[in-house]
Amino acid sequence: MGISHQIIHVDMDAFFASVEQLDNPELKDRPVIVGGSVEQRGVVAAASYAARKFGIHSAMPMSQALKVCPNAIVMPVRMKRYVEISNRIHEIFSRYTSQIEPISLDEAFLDVTGSIQLFGSAEKIGRRIKDEIKAELGLVASVGIASNKFLAKLASDLEKPDGFVIIKEQNKQKILDPLPISKIWGVGKVTEKALKTAGINTIKQLRQTQPEYLKTILGNQATDILSLAQGIDNREVESVHITKSISSEHTFAVDIDDKGILLSVLLGQVEEVAYRLRKSGFEAKTITLKLRYGNFETITRSSTLDKATNVTETLWQEAKAVFLKWHKKSAGSLRLLGFGTSGLVTEGTGQKELFINHEEEKQKRIDKAFDKIKDRYGDDAVRRGK
Ligand SMILES: [Mg+2]
Repeated sequence: MGISHQIIHVDMDAFFASVEQLDNPELKDRPVIVGGSVEQRGVVAAASYAARKFGIHSAMPMSQALKVCPNAIVMPVRMKRYVEISNRIHEIFSRYTSQIEPISLDEAFLDVTGSIQLFGSAEKIGRRIKDEIKAELGLVASVGIASNKFLAKLASDLEKPDGFVIIKEQNKQKILDPLPISKIWGVGKVTEKALKTAGINTIKQLRQTQPEYLKTILGNQATDILSLAQGIDNREVESVHITKSISSEHTFAVDIDDKGILLSVLLGQVEEVAYRLRKSGFEAKTITLKLRYGNFETITRSSTLDKATNVTETLWQEAKAVFLKWHKKSAGSLRLLGFGTSGLVTEGTGQKELFINHEEEKQKRIDKAFDKIKDRYGDDAVRRGK
């Protein structure tokens, strides 16, 4: 048996409308519609739950929406603001995993299989994400948890708004069976009609249909749809690594060839990058030095670590070794020096060691202490010695 995945689907409730209510508290609980104005022949982009009660839904012409709910408050679409909030939601996700597949501004899949050892369970992670979105952003998310994407998305929708549903292997068929076939991915209007004509209305009826017969209706889609009806979905979370690398670089006012000064600049960069790695919950496997000579020739020198880390001292020792090797061979005046990390993984998800590494634990404590001071007093409050 393969490893069972733990997938979380997070879907914000009435996202655009909720952001408008957040920024305009007097709109709370009112029927709010976000979209283009009637004069512009606009359509509904989003509607608050109070507005949805009137049957208002997205893509509906605004003129029609206002006919069924004349008291609705129409707000223009402020995409920039929604993107800003979306990024902050994404930042909350990234505390728990780097395996994030955004579907839209307000919806994403998270594969937290590798995060459970660190955070407890998918349920705990899902709760924390939901709570942190509420506490930090004042917005409500619905959360679904299951062993695959199809079920996780289904789960987040089951008790929307403010939903939190876990579908387990034991109860998945019970939940799926009574649902209409339209709940299955890939069953669009045309397919739905064809199935209904054949007397297949529910997922239970679908999965009890002979595969050969289904093929005559669905063609080569039949196998996939039948799998989904049984709660089987092997599609992986395709994470878009928004953070592919974290780096810092510095262009000098005059070209610098002093080894001591360059090393000191490099140390500052390593400290900054390591701090940012820790803050975003990443560890890096590869470090890269970027060196630009006075004549603009630019070279990079990389090194891959035995295991991913965000410990300043470890990154610094590696960076220093790479720098000294470069310096010995091809030293020159630099107009730019940069330090970058890539091959990022979520903190704590790399390979586990059999023994406690006491030196590493000590360094982690030092980093923690430095980070605290830095958080409080700013960038230049602490520097360590070379
Ligand atoms: Mg949504």
